[in-house]
Amino acid sequence: MIMTMTTKEREKTLERQGYHFVGTQKHSAVKTCLWLRRSIRGEGNCYKGEFYGINAHRCIQMTPSIFCNQMCLHCWRPLEAFTVGTEEEEVWVSAPVPVPVVWDAPDEIAEGCIKEQRRLISGFKGSEKTSKTAFEEASIPKHVAISLIGEPTLYPYLDELIQEFHSRGMTTFVVTNGTNPAVLRKINPSQLYLSLNAPDEAIYRIVSQADYWSRINESLNEMGRKKSRTRTRTRTRTVIRITCIEGLNMVNSEGYAELLKIANPDFIEVKAYMHIGYSRRRLSRESMPAHARVRDFAREIAEALTASGYVYTVTDESEISRVVLVS
Ligand code: SF4
Repeated sequence: MIMTMTTKEREKTLERQGYHFVGTQKHSAVKTCLWLRRSIRGEGNCYKGEFYGINAHRCIQMTPSIFCNQMCLHCWRPLEAFTVGTEEEEVWVSAPVPVPVVWDAPDEIAEGCIKEQRRLISGFKGSEKTSKTAFEEASIPKHVAISLIGEPTLYPYLDELIQEFHSRGMTTFVVTNGTNPAVLRKINPSQLYLSLNAPDEAIYRIVSQADYWSRINESLNEMGRKKSRTRTRTRTRTVIRITCIEGLNMVNSEGYAELLKIANPDFIEVKAYMHIGYSRRRLSRESMPAHARVRDFAREIAEALTASGYVYTVTDESEISRVVLVS
């Protein structure tokens, strides 16, 4: 495992940024977001509310793996705090009993997240800005976004963790970078996101600073198979997310369309890179496209798909989050 920080330094860095560790081994974390704070005060909801009906004040943002195997330029996390190296990562992913760490059990993580979320929102109780109804609802979280930091498929019991949340009557979103197609094959969250950073391998290598292009293509195939296999009301909804970085990956809409056709997702989220956190050390403010530019690029992709027989259109957008929904 390649680390440029000691475990203690890493923990401190993440804690300073508002991440709260869950479990005994400290590889899982939760964090409340800006939209939860707004939603609990009745001051608005995040774009996931508008697009998918999620109430931010009832949503737990968590990860079972603070580690990641890519080093995306646009990542707002401190990469040096949680990047795992390619060689070691092979061991992590393929070993039946992972070598470098002892992993917490899925039920311990699920319970820990719910408990920690309740503790975090308890601070809102005394505020006069808090909506009483929203606060009561927030104490019974209904949704888990497994997407906070790191790559969740590196946790070897992700499937069981999703089932733990579902058995508690909660829905789940999983956001993956697509580097572990075997895990994608296995899991069935309520909604599965795959982040597609580029229309071709050369740009992928620049943006993600990693060497997993063939695995990502395999994951796109896996997503397509998942969709055609499970045509029931409870099947996993599939989403491809494209984070647009001006001057880097907002090119070759036909290339994106070719890749998107493989996965044939229910939704495509075309979203602006946001110039925040540690990404400011790697990208300039000019890399953050305006909403109108994102909308135009989303249209270009939808048109390229439609031209090749897959009918997709822009169906929604959130200007404040600079995101456009294509479906
Ligand atoms: S895959 Fe996600 S968590 Fe990993 S470096 Fe890229 S943006 Fe960050």
